[in-house]
Amino acid sequence: MRTLGLIGGMSWESTAIYYGLMNETVRQRLGGLHSAKLLLWSFDFAEIAERQHAGDWEGATAMMVDAAQKLEAGGAEALVICTNTMHRMAEEVQASVSIPLIHIADATAAAMKCAAVSKPILLATRFTMEQDFYKGRLASRHGIDAMVPDEAGRTVVHDIIYQELVRGVVTPSSKAAYIAEVERLRAAADVDSLIMGCTEITMLIGEGDFDIPVFDTTRIHAEAAVEFALG
Ligand code: GLU
Repeated sequence: MRTLGLIGGMSWESTAIYYGLMNETVRQRLGGLHSAKLLLWSFDFAEIAERQHAGDWEGATAMMVDAAQKLEAGGAEALVICTNTMHRMAEEVQASVSIPLIHIADATAAAMKCAAVSKPILLATRFTMEQDFYKGRLASRHGIDAMVPDEAGRTVVHDIIYQELVRGVVTPSSKAAYIAEVERLRAAADVDSLIMGCTEITMLIGEGDFDIPVFDTTRIHAEAAVEFALG
């Protein structure tokens, strides 16, 4: 089994979910007392969120590159960035190390291809919904055309992530708001699926809330990384 290097703490709420999923997947695959071989770099998320909201992507990239290099030096054989948003600098991170980076959008696209869908709604942070690094990669590499909420909807989705989910707060009213946003987009646009494109969204909603295919990027990414580790 290969050792995975996790760049996490963004937030730790979702990194804890990755940790559980990776170990459960190894146990399912190998049985007995087997568990995942992992190294974790866990950021103080306040330092990351501050740079994101200030638009200091250069500063955030330097921190990500530093973490990646430390994990590689520590013996990691592949990198897993445990957030969709921080794939914004995936290319710079990949270029700074000689181990592979398992990209969350590519893993998600592979799962969507298996399900034969290509017109998803994308719920994520404002950064992931509005910038090109994620939607652009889905479109150019995988032919997936992701639809995002309008400005008001994006604000609701983003604020619930930063004001509640990354702080461990899960409320029925926020769940209802997410479901309403999905229903609004379904009524207005030709969509066939939903990407939960932020690694904390799995705390709030899931497959059982919708009658379209739902792609939980946290689970998909954790499982793809374990596949690599065991492959
Ligand atoms: N974990 C979230 C994501 O998947 C948001 C927090 C962050 O900015 O990393 O995008």
